[in-house]
Amino acid sequence: MIEYRNLRIALLGAGSVGAQVAHQILNHGEELAARIGAGIELAGVAVRNLDSPRTADIPRHLLTTDAESLVLGADIVIELMGGIEPARTLLLTAINSGADVITANKALLAHHGPELFEAAAQVGAQLYYEAAVGGAIPIIRPLRDSLAGDRVTRILGIVNGTTNFILDRIDTLGESMEDALAIATELGYAEADPTADIGGYDAAQKACILASLAFHTTVPAEAVYREGITDITREQVQAARKAGYVVKILAIAERIKDADGVEGVSARVYPALVPDTHPLAAVHGANNAVFVEAESAGPLMFYGAGAGGVQTSSAVLGDLVSAARRHVVGGPGVGESTHANYPILPIGAIRTRYQITLSVTDEPGVLAEIANIFREREVSVETLEQKTYGSDTTTPTATLVIGTHEATEADLAATVAALEASPVVVGVASVLRVEGL
Ligand code: NAP
Repeated sequence: MIEYRNLRIALLGAGSVGAQVAHQILNHGEELAARIGAGIELAGVAVRNLDSPRTADIPRHLLTTDAESLVLGADIVIELMGGIEPARTLLLTAINSGADVITANKALLAHHGPELFEAAAQVGAQLYYEAAVGGAIPIIRPLRDSLAGDRVTRILGIVNGTTNFILDRIDTLGESMEDALAIATELGYAEADPTADIGGYDAAQKACILASLAFHTTVPAEAVYREGITDITREQVQAARKAGYVVKILAIAERIKDADGVEGVSARVYPALVPDTHPLAAVHGANNAVFVEAESAGPLMFYGAGAGGVQTSSAVLGDLVSAARRHVVGGPGVGESTHANYPILPIGAIRTRYQITLSVTDEPGVLAEIANIFREREVSVETLEQKTYGSDTTTPTATLVIGTHEATEADLAATVAALEASPVVVGVASVLRVEGL
């Protein structure tokens, strides 16, 4: 067997994930070396502040604030700093100086993935990012390798643990959105500024990464349609449960045809009704799950811890072993495949089912008027339920819950606009899409 010098590993960041990755390399280096077929050495760990508290012991002499010098001497660079800069520049420097790179940085990949993949392809470097979506859950490799011979049709992902935790508490404990968010913050699931999670931004970055990979297409981060959970109410979640659904915020990547028959990719994030019999309905707490539908494989589900320093380090270490093996053997990296380059279709092109809750005046002829509004916009009603009578206003009102057959988002939007303008409609309380059927 050829003896190989120790591979020099540069670690950028020693926070929640980075400290655990350092711990694994320092404590299980021999076992990792045996799996790789070459020794590995943690050359250094770049941090912002040498004195920040760490969740694992890292010898002081390994810590540095000079990330650039560390990168220049490395065989493999692991970026766990987060944010766009200096992470982007450091990874480009690493790639251009002959290193293979690993990152868990979904924001960086969503916004600068094509630039990084292109740089890596130019020099034959590898770029691994298993931890960027779903934390510990293997989903990038299954999509890139295991399903490489199949054709993925749709991905439905619960990819943000914080919002799943919040929606799950509203559903199972009857908490308000406000209380559930406060608990999530107290337990450390939500940041002090929770916008990235509850606004759906974090999930949108993951949808971008999944859609690009699954459909061999460059999906710009800005092309991902996004709605967060801020408008979801306890009443909606409870009504959904009674009707046989669970409210989940989903990252959806789908290959669809628009009204003109053009095949393209839709990438979107929004809270949706999932049938309570669907496997995604059983994903509780802060867990993540990615449900993949492929033409030959059929439905597959990948489930587990979507975050956590220790858990996420598992995915990073898996990338390290893969990258190190290829570094030893040589040969070009696994390039990002964008051969299909489907057009990215706007939200108006998607077809799904909807559940609309509206308050109407309780008078003869109202149902006929409502039915007319749907029919004229070619949205077919599947179910109609009259829920409660309101007696708190001078005009008696009724609540209608209308389930539609599949319709395009554009037709649905026109229907909702017409409902809002109709004199018999007091208000449209909620419009939720139904997914996973
Ligand atoms: P974190 O706890 O905030 O740690 C960031 C680390 O990077 C810290 O050690 C910090 O140094 C260092 N750092 C930040 N800016 C730097 C700079 N300009 N120069 C040098 N060092 C710098 O972050 P994390 O939670 O471990 O997340 C790391 C990455 O993994 C992110 O991209 C995140 O999206 C991704 N990820 C995280 C999780 C998770 O569960 N946490 C799961 C999946 C993916 P100091 O310690 O000195 O401040």
